[in-house]
Amino acid sequence: MSTHLTTVAGVPVDTRHFIGGERVASTETFTDVSPIDGSVLAEISRGTAMEAAAAVAAAKAAFPAWAATPRAERARLLHAIADGVERRLEELALVETTDNGALLRSHRRGVMPRVAHNFRFFANWLLELGHEDFTTRGHTNHVTWDPAGPCVLITPWNAPLMLATWKVAPALAAGDTVVLKPAEWSPLTASLLADIAAEAGLPAGVLNVVQGYGSEVGDPLTAHPDVRRISFTGSVPTARHISASAAANLTPLSLELGGKSPLLVFADADLDLAAGLAVEQYDNAGQVCLAATRILVEAPVAEEFTRRFTEKAAALRQGDPREETTDIGPTIHPRQLEKIDGFVRRALEAGARAVIGGHRGEGQYYVPTLLTDVRQDSEIVQEEVFGPVLTLQTFEDEDEAVRLANDTRFGLAATVATGDAERAARVTARLVAGTVWVNCFFVRDLKAPFGGSRHSGVGREGGTWSFDFYCDVKNTVTAPKGFKDHG
Ligand code: NAD
Repeated sequence: MSTHLTTVAGVPVDTRHFIGGERVASTETFTDVSPIDGSVLAEISRGTAMEAAAAVAAAKAAFPAWAATPRAERARLLHAIADGVERRLEELALVETTDNGALLRSHRRGVMPRVAHNFRFFANWLLELGHEDFTTRGHTNHVTWDPAGPCVLITPWNAPLMLATWKVAPALAAGDTVVLKPAEWSPLTASLLADIAAEAGLPAGVLNVVQGYGSEVGDPLTAHPDVRRISFTGSVPTARHISASAAANLTPLSLELGGKSPLLVFADADLDLAAGLAVEQYDNAGQVCLAATRILVEAPVAEEFTRRFTEKAAALRQGDPREETTDIGPTIHPRQLEKIDGFVRRALEAGARAVIGGHRGEGQYYVPTLLTDVRQDSEIVQEEVFGPVLTLQTFEDEDEAVRLANDTRFGLAATVATGDAERAARVTARLVAGTVWVNCFFVRDLKAPFGGSRHSGVGREGGTWSFDFYCDVKNTVTAPKGFKDHG
């Protein structure tokens, strides 16, 4: 077997970059470790400015032909990639779980089918994306969505292939070429995606994958003058850094960042449903950007809500994410575990009380935690933990609920539990968030806009919004025949 192939969960994975249709190795590597048991999975090529430049050059060279490829052909190739994802669904699910520790059953039943759907959805949307025409004093305005050029797509570790393809699919559909840089803690499925795209017949250079650290290969990618779009999902500090880097070339950016989203539980809510929604926030060990980590409960029902919540939380099984019966897996990395533990220790020292949890589990696990007696201006209420840690606060009325909900620097999502439709309309209108759910959570349609307000992001992706971002929108104004009067 090539020294550049590693076998993960029985699946061969290439550890090199994928540039211009070829596998390319770096001289240095970094070690990829499984969060499940700390075992070494692979030595992955560690990209530098050289590989970044080569990947952008490949994307630039491939762009004119890909942009000129008829939409129907682009759509056909995206469907062929979706077919490949479906064929290799089990392999992708196994590798992703081994690499990032999220539940195998979720990868099998929810995430990987969704990865295929990302490609099918944007392939179909592309065929519907027409042009817009209107008339101004006899002149026609003809609005078109033109391919923009090479895009750099940078993604985090918490939902690696899902988040990568949420960007790759619309960019390719738009006629752009792509350099994808996955996170260094979960680099493997991006490499499998490169194989699948090549097998599907995607021309060389249209999709490139470079591996490595943000500071080493990410920086030269985002600062590159030939890059026409940067789409980034990750943390606020990295977003600031990338924004500064993109500013030199005025490269348009889409930023999908962190959150500290609220779950508002009103006294008129179905409390069982509300408690279930709250417990759902422990999914993926709380490493979910959209997680509603601040539970705000109307005071008269706080005790009953807490009773139902703790009952449901006690039934959660923490363990090996490959087991069908497991509900919560490990945290991604010892550094993430340390970060989570630090947040909770400081909160407890500041006077918080752990209703459940409040400490590490074995190995790389953190015990699902609910903290109460927390101050609105405290770190634990204001900062994103990105672990299975929720806070509970009470409110007296709608005004206070909205004030607390909006009082962080984030604005990614919010969830409202209420039995009163008029209240739902009043409250949702006042919440600052890119997505608001009423009596539900995580229901997402690819047609809908997705993104965050304030420090949770810049711009929206999804449906038309994705094409607005990944395309150069152009208006062509044509005078009527024989028109002479410019006065
Ligand atoms: P991160 O910002 O540390 O890293 C994200 C990606 O950026 C990685 O690929 C990393 O290598 C790269 N990167 C780091 N420094 C870079 C640089 N200087 N130049 C270019 N690239 C660089 O974030 P993370 O810890 O991997 O992810 C967790 C964060 O992502 C959380 O804040 C979470 O809320 C957020 N997130 C947001 C969404 C969303 O859709 N809004 C979805 C998932 C995760």
